[in-house]
Amino acid sequence: MSGWVLGIESTAHTLSFGAVRSDGTALPAAIDTIRPTEGGIHPREAADHHRDVAATLLDSLMEMHDLALTELQAVAYSQGPGMGPCLQVGAGIARALSAAHEIPLIGVNHCVAHIEIGRSECDCDDPVLLYVSGGNTQVITRLDGRYRVLGETLDIGIGNMLDKFARKFGHPFPGGPVIERHARTYLEANPDASLEGLELPYAVRGMDMAFSGIMTAAVAMVHRGVPFDAVCWSLQEHAFAACVEVAERAMAHAGKSELLLGGGVACNQRLRDMCTIMAKERDGESHAPPRMYCIDNGTMIAQLGWLEWSSGRTTSLAESAVNPGLRTDATPIAW
Ligand code: AMP
Ligand code: MG
Repeated sequence: MSGWVLGIESTAHTLSFGAVRSDGTALPAAIDTIRPTEGGIHPREAADHHRDVAATLLDSLMEMHDLALTELQAVAYSQGPGMGPCLQVGAGIARALSAAHEIPLIGVNHCVAHIEIGRSECDCDDPVLLYVSGGNTQVITRLDGRYRVLGETLDIGIGNMLDKFARKFGHPFPGGPVIERHARTYLEANPDASLEGLELPYAVRGMDMAFSGIMTAAVAMVHRGVPFDAVCWSLQEHAFAACVEVAERAMAHAGKSELLLGGGVACNQRLRDMCTIMAKERDGESHAPPRMYCIDNGTMIAQLGWLEWSSGRTTSLAESAVNPGLRTDATPIAW
């Protein structure tokens, strides 16, 4: 056994504990996600879920990797952005562990954690990140010591859009993987599929995107009698093309050759393939971390905590309040 840093993720639907050993080795996280049988994620209910499963989940992480609390060296948690009640559960556990074991507390930026776990897992250096998750859709890159948001959704996150569309037709959260399966079924039956007759709104405004209009139009298309599989395929093609277009423009603008995917929607194979094609056409490279590090996970929080701690930053109790609206570019990057 050796020293380790704990990471606590609790920004939304998922509570997760992950760890990084003192030499920087990332250890897979213990993850528990609330899956409401109907409706979206209610912040209060998600926070109650997190509180209920926390003790057992932390035990399972320590058992999985043979970790002992006596060797815990620092505790990191998601300080934002996210849902206030959910963030508070993670921050509360972090403060308690920090006080009980007299170890440093490190509040980290959830979006920056997606970038850093991707950078280390994929061994890429200076990427443009296409961050596609439930609540967020952003194109981010490092400029002047901060991760800057070059483009983002003007309304809802792409994952929320997929989840809401799926929910309209009886598929509970998470809807993204269901849509991916239906889209694949359509393509297998129609290898020469064309978007003709399946056009949906394509909302790219400069470097920004919008997804609520495409969802409304896709729902209407199913109601008009177009098969669900076909609409799922078209929905993916349109929504992903918008993200890839903005990512490509960001790479050109910032003069970067690496693309990195992050967030739960980055589990999608079609999106991964589209990014690979785009990067190749520009003589660049597209990277996607293992799926367990695309979804929200405690390991990425531990890893960013470990980086910040190694570069000398910790969070005092007075500065430890959660910040639901924390922006990606609010965090200085010291490494
Ligand atoms: P996150 O907010 O980063 O934890 O990611 C959750 C989101 O990822 C949800 O909106 C899911 O529907 C979405 N998601 C997960 N797997 C896939 C997939 N294979 N294809 C598309 N979306 C996905
Ligand atoms: Mg996330």
